[in-house]
Amino acid sequence: MQGQDLIRTIPCSGNDSTCYALADCNNFFVSCERAFNPALEKKPVIVLSNNDGCVIARSNEAKAIGIKMGDPFFKIREAVRKYKIHVFSGNMQLYADMSARVHATLREFIPEIEIYSIDEAFIDLGGIQGDMKSLGEKMAYICRRNTGIPVSIGISKTKTLAKIASKLCKQYPKLHNSCYMHRPEDIETVLKKFPIKDVWGIGRRTVAKLDLYNITTAWDFLSAPEDMIRGLMGINGVRTRNELSGIPCIAFEDSIKSRQSIMTSRSFTKEITDMELLSEQIAEFTAMSAEKLRKQGSLCGEIMVFACTNRFRTDETYRNSSAVFKFETPTDSSIELCTAAVRLAHSVFSPGTGYKRAGVCFSDISGKEILQPSLFAAPDRFKHDKLMDAMDRLNKSMGGKAVLIASEGSGKIANTKDHMSPHYTTDWNDIPVAHV
Ligand SMILES: [Mg+2]
Repeated sequence: MQGQDLIRTIPCSGNDSTCYALADCNNFFVSCERAFNPALEKKPVIVLSNNDGCVIARSNEAKAIGIKMGDPFFKIREAVRKYKIHVFSGNMQLYADMSARVHATLREFIPEIEIYSIDEAFIDLGGIQGDMKSLGEKMAYICRRNTGIPVSIGISKTKTLAKIASKLCKQYPKLHNSCYMHRPEDIETVLKKFPIKDVWGIGRRTVAKLDLYNITTAWDFLSAPEDMIRGLMGINGVRTRNELSGIPCIAFEDSIKSRQSIMTSRSFTKEITDMELLSEQIAEFTAMSAEKLRKQGSLCGEIMVFACTNRFRTDETYRNSSAVFKFETPTDSSIELCTAAVRLAHSVFSPGTGYKRAGVCFSDISGKEILQPSLFAAPDRFKHDKLMDAMDRLNKSMGGKAVLIASEGSGKIANTKDHMSPHYTTDWNDIPVAHV
């Protein structure tokens, strides 16, 4: 079967079997800033990455000026001045909290949602009766009313088609943030114009390969023989082709996916040449990863620490060193993890070298419930568990880093965050004040 025939398998109306919605927050980080600062509406706004390095979010107005994702901030300073672009340092604490509020609002409609990323969630609408288009409009309206965040709701028979539908909402304001894409003739019209590079699951390298066969739209892809797609992309390509034809092949996962590895790394504003400072940074990254590990109820079996020099320096050879430690018994204790990480930091450090970037990666991750204790497990796990639990609770209720592991130091290295907005929703001192 090819495009035309495949798509005929999609039922013309109703919602008798599978149906998914994708709720995608529009320009999410920018929308979070606007929710507390309405003067930013209709103005060009950008949000910068860690250390104010490069652009990670843009308002439509900033996109129209020509600001690209990933543009280094120092290269666009002139444009920022000329076009009066409003600049913000990434306020991840605010964005994570706003994301949780959007998800909580969506759950009020349908409890089963799959959180796909900080600004996207899939919703299983299978078997639900009624007007899907109005349901989507209502979800978008309530999300905006409850959280201040504009959300696009794309609804269709598969997750891949729902993603395409959500992109249409952003292109066509007339849709009122909700697009129900179900009639085969409509899907055909959309796919014939939809660039293959924007289809979920199609990477940059695949786009280049497909281009050689003149496959540039989603419809070209769907019309290509299955064997050819399988040869070019393997089973994942076939899956995407099926999804585009309305056959669901990507499962709905209603629990937060556990990560298979957890990585925390940063570039430093100034190169680090001091062993103590480097190990404090490594300990801090380890403590951050350990908190994520405990949150998802997992244990880490292996930890890797790396540090590298500045790739862009022409007067020095680029160096990248790493070291790995395997735990006898997997752990989620910040104390054990930081001890190992600091030891590894010492082994990668070489005196006289300036380090520009460093990080920590946890791998060999397993569920806590299936722990196989080692005969030689030294530390008293029960005590560690209680201590970590108390630490996580204190940090959660008091905000930020109320309790630290000693090896994290006292934060001697300041990150550049010159344009940070207040933590409106997570810090009592930053709560917005209403002036009457
Ligand atoms: Mg988005």
